[in-house]
Amino acid sequence: MGRIRTGVLGATGTVGQRLIALLEHHPQFAVTALAASDRSEGKRYAAACSWRLPGEMPALVRSMIVQAPRPPLDCDIVLSSLPSDIAGPIEQDFANAGYPVISNSASHRMDEHVPLLLPEANPEHLALLDCDGGGRGRGFIVTNPNCSTIMIALTLAPLAARFGVEAVVVTTLQALSGAGYPGVAALDITDNVLPFIPNEEEKMGHWNGTRIEPAPFPVSAQCHRVNVMDGHTAAIRAKLGRSAEVAELEDAFTSFRGLPQELKLQSAPERPIVVRAEPDRPQPRLDRDAGGGMSVTVGRVARDEVLGHRFVALSHNTIRGAAGAAILNAELLVARGHIPTRP
Ligand code: NAP
Repeated sequence: MGRIRTGVLGATGTVGQRLIALLEHHPQFAVTALAASDRSEGKRYAAACSWRLPGEMPALVRSMIVQAPRPPLDCDIVLSSLPSDIAGPIEQDFANAGYPVISNSASHRMDEHVPLLLPEANPEHLALLDCDGGGRGRGFIVTNPNCSTIMIALTLAPLAARFGVEAVVVTTLQALSGAGYPGVAALDITDNVLPFIPNEEEKMGHWNGTRIEPAPFPVSAQCHRVNVMDGHTAAIRAKLGRSAEVAELEDAFTSFRGLPQELKLQSAPERPIVVRAEPDRPQPRLDRDAGGGMSVTVGRVARDEVLGHRFVALSHNTIRGAAGAAILNAELLVARGHIPTRP
């Protein structure tokens, strides 16, 4: 079977580079088109892109010419990692032109007919495509949640299913790569913690309804930028629907599996949530690459005097929180017949 020809919008950016790296040896998708801003347009990718990932830029993309993010592009689907302030109309243009658009940006997350998909937690959201007549030969948009929300919602999914969740308080410590490139100025973040990430606390609310979790519950979030390269950490306190032992929570996390695991999707980690017993885990440097960057690591599971239970979660923000999430969504779309395979 031929690989599905894939265009990357925002290809020179932090998430775009991750998409290209993760797709280099992917059995289902081959990168055939790259698009970015007019700063990069018309240049070879090797000249336009300052490659920031370890290892070499994949040979296949080096000589590709970066194009404007406008249809038509030489591809069957597009993966978008455009800045949210410009992604909206561009992604809509591609969908209107018949392309499946799998997006990392916030622009269409709250649109009524756009799935906000986290495949282990809410694969049923794909049904929105059928309601809207999208998919199966027609253009559409599918989004993934914000990077911190993915991690938090994934850890709450098994708790909601087994115990019910009534309220959550979360404090995040978010990595520098979450701000894109060049991101936060070194003089602002060295020897420092920034207690403000624009729009981030509001985005957490995007699953504080019926869009990701089955049951709505209040979420109070405070977000901080910290001097860590990759890997977002979240200290989470949860009020559950019934009393539960710490060991029950650990079992709920460890045994959690979803549709991607059942379907054995290429990017699905064997264990979506890994529980560490050591008192000083999870840590970004040690745990962000768990499950190829697609597993969330949980530790410090304990009783909490105020809300009942607490734990610390950590995940790789540009893999599980962005590029890997979008690719997992694309794999599910193929498995569900929304993206046709090539003969
Ligand atoms: P980034 O490093 O700043 O990259 C932005 C990309 O968009 C670059 O390829 C840039 O191209 C392109 N671009 C900028 N302005 C443009 C314009 N006017 N027209 C067309 N292309 C333009 O940002 P990022 O961190 O990769 O984030 C990309 C998206 O993913 C954002 O919506 C972000 O919120 C979301 N996201 C990021 C993360 C993360 O951990 N970083 C996680 C989840 C979601 P040039 O190089 O040509 O300027």
